[in-house]
Amino acid sequence: MKETRSTCPYCGVGCGVIIRSEGDRITGVRGDPDHPANFGRLCTKGSTLHLTAAPEVTRQVRLLHPMLREQRRDKPVRVDWHVALELAADRFAQTIRAHGPDAVGFYISGQLLTEDYYVFNKLAKGLVGTNNIDTNSRLCMSSAVAGYKMTLGADAPPPCYDDVNHADCIFIVGSNTAFAHPVLFRRIEEAKAVRPGMKVVFCDPRRTDTAELADLYLPLLPGTDVMLFHGMLHVMLWEGWTKPDYIAAHTNGFEALKAVVRECTPDVVAQTCGIRKEDLFTAARWFAASPATLSLYCQGLNQSSSGTAKNAALINLHLASAQIGRPGAGPFSLTGQPNAMGGREVGGLANLLSAHRDLANPQHRAEVAALWGVSSVPEKPGKTAVEMFQAAADGEIRALWIACTNPAQSMPDQKTVRRALERAEFVVVQESFATTATCEYADLLLPATTWGEKEGTVTNSERRISRVRAAVPAPGNARHDWQIVVDFARKLEARLRSPGLFPYETPEAIWLEHRESTRGRDLDITGLSYGLLEEAPRQWPFPAGATQGRERLYADGVFPTSDGKARFAAVTYQPLAEPRDSRYPFSLTTGRLRDQWHGMSRTGTLGRLFGHVPEPVVQMHPQDMQRRGLAEGELAHVTSKRGSILLPVQASAELALSQAFIAMHWGSEFVSGLSSTGDPLAGVNAITTSAYCPISRQPELKHAAVKILKAEMPWTLLAAAWLPDGEALAAREQLQALMARFPFAACVPFAAQRPLEAGGDARTGMLFRAAGYEAPGDEALQRLEQLLGLTGAEILRYADKRKGQRRTIRVRREAGALRLEGLLLAGDTSAEPWLKALLLQELDAQAYGRLLLSPGAKAPVALRQKGRQVCSCFGVDETAIQSCLGAAEGSAEDRLASLQAALRCGTNCGSCVPELKRMVRAFPAAQLA
Ligand code: SF4
Repeated sequence: MKETRSTCPYCGVGCGVIIRSEGDRITGVRGDPDHPANFGRLCTKGSTLHLTAAPEVTRQVRLLHPMLREQRRDKPVRVDWHVALELAADRFAQTIRAHGPDAVGFYISGQLLTEDYYVFNKLAKGLVGTNNIDTNSRLCMSSAVAGYKMTLGADAPPPCYDDVNHADCIFIVGSNTAFAHPVLFRRIEEAKAVRPGMKVVFCDPRRTDTAELADLYLPLLPGTDVMLFHGMLHVMLWEGWTKPDYIAAHTNGFEALKAVVRECTPDVVAQTCGIRKEDLFTAARWFAASPATLSLYCQGLNQSSSGTAKNAALINLHLASAQIGRPGAGPFSLTGQPNAMGGREVGGLANLLSAHRDLANPQHRAEVAALWGVSSVPEKPGKTAVEMFQAAADGEIRALWIACTNPAQSMPDQKTVRRALERAEFVVVQESFATTATCEYADLLLPATTWGEKEGTVTNSERRISRVRAAVPAPGNARHDWQIVVDFARKLEARLRSPGLFPYETPEAIWLEHRESTRGRDLDITGLSYGLLEEAPRQWPFPAGATQGRERLYADGVFPTSDGKARFAAVTYQPLAEPRDSRYPFSLTTGRLRDQWHGMSRTGTLGRLFGHVPEPVVQMHPQDMQRRGLAEGELAHVTSKRGSILLPVQASAELALSQAFIAMHWGSEFVSGLSSTGDPLAGVNAITTSAYCPISRQPELKHAAVKILKAEMPWTLLAAAWLPDGEALAAREQLQALMARFPFAACVPFAAQRPLEAGGDARTGMLFRAAGYEAPGDEALQRLEQLLGLTGAEILRYADKRKGQRRTIRVRREAGALRLEGLLLAGDTSAEPWLKALLLQELDAQAYGRLLLSPGAKAPVALRQKGRQVCSCFGVDETAIQSCLGAAEGSAEDRLASLQAALRCGTNCGSCVPELKRMVRAFPAAQLA
């Protein structure tokens, strides 16, 4: 058994992990107690990483060999690396020669390592001669980059995670930290437990679990953040809570900003933002007058058509109240991805150059050209993410190279993105997972290594660089991302007659060149080495001669601007790109689920991570559902100006009236259907808008105006079955192909609710839900039965063709008990609650006899229905929690403690603690013991 220190590949907290492995098999993972981001903690996602790397998962979902399609939509065939890369180099060279370097584009990812990013950037800007290289980080944090640069002069988050232990006020805005950055949230919970006087202010349209920790919750209306921040500054000025001495000594531009915020009176702000004036005053007072205020923010600010203004307006508050440069104070942008920061550091975006240099700056271009040994780097700005896919859809970009990201799921306005992928003449997809929607569009698929297999570095939200290490060798023929780029680049160099730019044989060689590029820059790491990073993760800057990285920036009040002063940004409030109106009367927001990550290519391989939210839904306020005649679980068309998605509705107390919410993860891999006009649907991003911030070019993925109308689909189907170990994911691939046969279909894995400590993923099955205007032909249902193993001798079957009804049940006899192994209910799904409970809870169905096949029959015996899984570490469901709460006594803290003692929920990773607290608070007093 071997142990290897590395990092978690999910969010920007950047937790350290210790990977256990035996030979080429990863067998376990635990938090690294010595890593300063997490001190041993992991969330639900991090603590199940090893299960996603199990050989049986790898075998079913990984891309293991280069694959080539002769024709689009053909099944790809295996080729060797030489053939694959020669072909790629030929096609890219031909395109560049015939149409110029800007006819190609590279779309990469914040999940790549810094070394991967560096060589991709050099390939595009140094060798090909195009700035058409952008990344999914554009969808994540480009507004944060622009906001920092506009105000503080450099793209550098000033605080660090330890600041939560020093802050007297934590101001969380546009971030469901409890779900998106769970381990950081644990640190905030602990800080609040130690210092209960610390104030937590939470501003968000949705009352998410993050609100559980808040002393003050501001339910601001979507998109009104700038008005809120200006209103707070207005109050600070009026009450004399700003710090004139700091403003005079360390900033410029305050008078212009004062003129802007003058109009933002408490009345205007309360009305625009939908909050109470008293709460505005309290928020302003706590922010300005607390000894130290730390703000934490994420996509709610960034994914906006005024994302830069939102970031800058929040930083204005820190400057005006001198809440920066001290322990516990500062504006802290939380990065969504594990290495969005590393991508920024190497300039891996269409408008940036290495080491935080600007493409628009001639001196910066010359410095980078000299470093790389090329005559120049191109001056013309490259296409950013939305622009790149629009250019490909328009035929301007002809060859696309996509690495480690899934634009056919994650980009807004999927109709345009998919048209781009169809129209591009040559599409290369460099990926670890063969299951992403984007793989369907690739001419050439190149298998890349992933977590547990790679070597390099990443930087987390607090500027901390960690080593990523390989625990096991690459599976199949997969290669490291940097290696694929270098091998391709050398072949392209030969064709473009410009050899010698890619001499690297190791990731360290690449990193050393990157290190040199930072000399004298704000992120100078010339004092660092791989050796020092082996000892411990380090923060930048870390210039030559330093003995440690800088924990916090701007303690001296000197900023990286021409005069050393920060700049107030006199930005104005702009409404949403697409406000709701009478035709599209709902504000749809998008966001994360607790246990899923991005497009779910990795987390979606584990049934247990679907326990918390089992199926895709659109959430609405209960009164809105009632007004529209929608009952829980009924299907609705959610339609924006760009497209439509069909989803079951679910009531949510987190939402205000006229608001709706869909989790960002649900792509066409998991849910499909036809719009009301008959167009195929492409997941949640079929309806989101590509309108973007004019400065950061980050699209407004967070908000779209939609209408929600009941979908009249009388024919419904539910099929679910346990599948043999190691076969569920392969079955899913085939089930996904069947989804297109139904006007609505969703396909998700599920697992037995068992404690994580029992080892391995629990028993896994697949659930397939569909609906239509009428019953489909028998052939589709037979295929479904076949894929779910609903065939053979142990099958009970009922069918009424005339009524379009069919019921198939597979049973297993075991020690006198009758267990359901799978079921299909078509036409009449009213027995779903009790039949699904028998299946999923693996209960004895002996007592149900012939009722198993009787349409409309109700369960004769009261079933203890397990609710949704709340604690995924110990497999604890909400029904168990409710019944335990009924016997609990004392204060809310006492009752939470009794729950934890009795059921162990919330005692491992802690991700469910906010939800447990909410359940404790909401439990009816009348039912308490
Ligand atoms: Fe990974 Fe969770 Fe840590 Fe984020 S908080 S890095 S997802 S373990």
